[in-house]
Amino acid sequence: MVQATRAYDAEVIVIGGGVIGAACAFRLAQAGREVLLLNADGPETAASYGNAGHIATEQLFPLASKGVLRNSWRYLLDAESPLRVRMAYLLPLLPWLARFAWAARERTYIRGVAALVALQHSALADMTDLLTDAELGHLLHRNGHLEVFETLPGGLAAQAQAERLMAYGVESVQLSADAVRAQVPTLNTKVQGAVQYLASGHVDDPWAVCQGLRDALVRSGGQLQQGRAVRIEAETPQQTTVVLEDGRRLRSAQLLVCAGAWSKPLAASLGYRVPLDTERGYHISVPGLPPEPCADPAGRLGGEAFCAGKGGARAAGGGHGAERHAAQRPAPLPLPLGISGRSIWRAMVAT
Ligand SMILES: Cc1cc2nc3c(=O)[nH]c(=O)nc-3n(C[C@H](O)[C@H](O)[C@H](O)COP(=O)(O)OP(=O)(O)OC[C@H]3O[C@@H](n4cnc5c(N)ncnc54)[C@H](O)[C@@H]3O)c2cc1C
Repeated sequence: MVQATRAYDAEVIVIGGGVIGAACAFRLAQAGREVLLLNADGPETAASYGNAGHIATEQLFPLASKGVLRNSWRYLLDAESPLRVRMAYLLPLLPWLARFAWAARERTYIRGVAALVALQHSALADMTDLLTDAELGHLLHRNGHLEVFETLPGGLAAQAQAERLMAYGVESVQLSADAVRAQVPTLNTKVQGAVQYLASGHVDDPWAVCQGLRDALVRSGGQLQQGRAVRIEAETPQQTTVVLEDGRRLRSAQLLVCAGAWSKPLAASLGYRVPLDTERGYHISVPGLPPEPCADPAGRLGGEAFCAGKGGARAAGGGHGAERHAAQRPAPLPLPLGISGRSIWRAMVAT
């Protein structure tokens, strides 16, 4: 943030209207700041549009870990794996991969766990407060989720993970295959059991959350503008100017860059080097599926997350390291919903 005393178009400009930018802008407006939220594209390019809507309070272990490093060669060689790297992008991605490997050291990993525990401790309560204040409480479900497994090794891994998490106060119960099917009759027959996490949550429709937060911003006196920032100029320590693609120049006293994967070049125009690279992720929504009994709770199978809401079933996950504008290259996704995941996954939307 850069402080200012001169005239400006808004006291604070927030660049990026995904869930992060919209939430920050709304909270700033509620705190009495004069806020302008600037957003570039339609929803389909934002991660906040295509995610699974899982409030993942059980995810306390950083991805950068020795286990992931050990298995990474398998992911990269397996065409069906949810994690892939576009070969042409391997070289540009190497600095990021090196940092990732460096972050998996024991000391850094332990620091990462502590940071995630602190964040997750209040994540669901914070989300509840935010959505309640934005009059969006009806979009949030606080009833946990199932970590479903289809094989014995998968079950053992899920149970071992649940026991590790128990040490941090993350509550879960083991469910037999029959108990899972009693809760979710639409699951396919391969399901062997599940770990049910009790204190996680999900939102019906992540994009409805963003739109709702933007509406709440306007109700709180903030402004919304459509436009793509191409550069930020720090004219004085007290004033920044956001230069837009169409030539407009917006001045503010303070600036928040919340442009997701696009934040790196914007921050670079101010001289900040952000250690950020992009992974293209995918989701699919199946309107009308599953029928009512599967509406709660949300579930996970392997690396994929599933969430059901009023609009139908949504599956999200699978990604490949690629530049922001790389062509879409969806991975197949197994759906534990008694429907053929692969055929539908081929037609999915990229985020
Ligand atoms: C497949 C998938 C599944 C996921 N599942 C989950 C999940 O279940 N739970 C969870 O917590 N997280 C999940 N995530 C992560 C989550 O979606 C992201 O962390 C979150 O949405 C990031 O929000 P954001 O606002 O930072 O970025 P984005 O949602 O990407 O928003 C960035 C916004 O900035 C705008 N923008 C970009 N460049 C400019 C510019 N130059 N000028 C103006 N505006 C600009 C874009 O138009 C966009 O609206 C998932 C992600 C993916 C890809």
